[in-house]
Amino acid sequence: MAYTITDECVACGTCAEECPVGAISEGDGKYEIDADACLECGSCADACPTGAIEAP
Ligand code: SF4
Repeated sequence: MAYTITDECVACGTCAEECPVGAISEGDGKYEIDADACLECGSCADACPTGAIEAP
């Protein structure tokens, strides 16, 4: 499992800067998390200003 980004995402990019393994990239209108790379550390969820990142 991995953290996931919901439609609350406003594509600000804050989470991508926080991810220690570079698992987050910009997708179609919102950011996406590479489930295979995610360490489930939670850094992105803590940084998201809209609370768009859900724990597994
Ligand atoms: Fe990256 Fe950690 Fe978020 Fe997974 S939980 S996407 S490793 S910041």
